[in-house]
Amino acid sequence: MTGRRPLIAGNWKMNLDHLQSIAFVQKLAWTLRDAKHDKGAVEVAVFPPFTDLRSVQTLVNSDELPIAYGGQDLSAFDSGAYTGEISGAFLHALDCRYVIIGHSERRQYHHETDETVATKVAAAFRHQLIPVVCVGETAEDLETHGASAIPVAQLREALAPVTRGSEVVVAYEPVWAIGSGQAATPAQAQQVCAALRAVVAEVLGEDAGAATRILYGGSVKAANIASFMREADIDGALVGGASLLLEEFASIAQYQKHVGI
Ligand code: PEP
Repeated sequence: MTGRRPLIAGNWKMNLDHLQSIAFVQKLAWTLRDAKHDKGAVEVAVFPPFTDLRSVQTLVNSDELPIAYGGQDLSAFDSGAYTGEISGAFLHALDCRYVIIGHSERRQYHHETDETVATKVAAAFRHQLIPVVCVGETAEDLETHGASAIPVAQLREALAPVTRGSEVVVAYEPVWAIGSGQAATPAQAQQVCAALRAVVAEVLGEDAGAATRILYGGSVKAANIASFMREADIDGALVGGASLLLEEFASIAQYQKHVGI
């Protein structure tokens, strides 16, 4: 027992419009209720597109659904002439609990650097959002530097603006495993997650190291989640493709019922 509440988080990316988000979240809540999901034992969160968040907020609040939610990104700035950007203040106003920062698709397609990630982490804290900081190596990095060097360096920089006592979630997502169907082995993911936990402990203190949730992401599905969750330093999953499949995602959230765990 670690005392860390596992988090199963679904990153919808640019999928499901606001009407579809209502249907999905409602059905997810029913499915979890029917499965007698214990929200105290495993937290479930979804990360819909920005345009869905108001609908998700209304549904979650009015029906008191046991589902957390957050944005997939935020601006490093709080307000002003930044066309197309979304302020952390707006996410906070929609009761978002989390915000994903530094996803590899943001790093790749929007040229976000470790420095950008750090400024966004600072912005998340200014608006009482818990950052879900994504780190991970490319296939090339893996070959050149091994598995942990790049994620460790990325996390060190991302934590620079974090003050002791602030909650952060770390997601280890090897870029080569995202959307490829080729997940990391649980042993490799554990090794990197342990190295990331050591960074959190070094930068934010032993207590933070012990308390911080570290997720694995990259081709997670119902068939492999239990093998990751058996590892000592893996506290949940950031799920992409499988988070759009209702039964599959609900089954991932129910991993404790899977054989052998
Ligand atoms: C992701 O994009 O964060 C992700 C983990 O995707 P997938 O589960 O599809 O590999």
